[in-house]
Amino acid sequence: MEVDTAVEIKQEPIEGVDLETRILNLCHEKPGGINEDIIKQDMPQFDVKQRVTAINRLLSTGKLEIFKSGTKLIYKLKDGQSSNSQMKGADNQEKLVYQIIKEAENKGIWIRDIRYKSNLLMTQLNKILKNLESKKLIKAVKSVAASKKKVYMLYNLEPDRSVTGGAWYSDQDFESEFVEVLNQQCLKYLQQRAITASEGKTDPVAQKNGSYASSQEIWKFISQLGISKVQLAVEDIETILDTLIYDGKVERAVLAGNQTDEQRKLYRSVKPVLETTGLMRMPCGSCPVFDQCHDGGAISPTTCVYMKDWLS
Ligand code: SF4
Repeated sequence: MEVDTAVEIKQEPIEGVDLETRILNLCHEKPGGINEDIIKQDMPQFDVKQRVTAINRLLSTGKLEIFKSGTKLIYKLKDGQSSNSQMKGADNQEKLVYQIIKEAENKGIWIRDIRYKSNLLMTQLNKILKNLESKKLIKAVKSVAASKKKVYMLYNLEPDRSVTGGAWYSDQDFESEFVEVLNQQCLKYLQQRAITASEGKTDPVAQKNGSYASSQEIWKFISQLGISKVQLAVEDIETILDTLIYDGKVERAVLAGNQTDEQRKLYRSVKPVLETTGLMRMPCGSCPVFDQCHDGGAISPTTCVYMKDWLS
């Protein structure tokens, strides 16, 4: 992927709502409670002030309770925030729909499938869904798989990547600028690492070893830059690094760990030793989506930026 070095880093607005949702999800995952260290470890990209503001808002709106354990403060979901207590008083049809949606977990379920499973009339079902939505027990999420398709899931769940498209999609649109900025920052980090290694050591082997960085280190660097409004996983950064490998700007080495199956992926920036010929630079030869590329398709030579670059 070619990166325009003139691309500016755009500071994405950090949405407090995302942070609050993530804190609530953490509390669901750890019913015993969470402390400041757990929140910090899970979301290193948010600073203390943002974390404190989010926690205070959750405490003041009655969603969290605070306890003291030794010298640490523990946050737990407040009783009554659990869905069971909120479902008290609901009729059987509402309970059935809620149960069907709950079973779909964070992949969500389409309204037609809820109807099929519940045997309810569409008008009844719509009414129940609206009611559950207004009680903030469920939510509708747009799916990237189809532009008009909404799936329902429990309110506090973070949608699965298959629904949202992962970090690279925002409201079903592919965030090409965001991907480009990440691509550029990952490369800069590795180039800087290589410069530092070459300045500090004279031994070429030590220089080479010193220029490697693990995907976790790069993930941490990107998280701390605060350029992403969504929570990025190490795998997201590895996807970005893969594109740099395809571009011939980075190489990867895999280091076996002490435990069986444990592997660490290490990356370093590289410069091509020889200028390649025009034909060798043709992008299709190493294209990972070569099999899906055809005229008139979603991936097509006529819309391919790599092909356009190569021809120009
Ligand atoms: S034209 Fe198709 S196969 Fe060739 S690089 Fe572009 S997407 Fe890949």
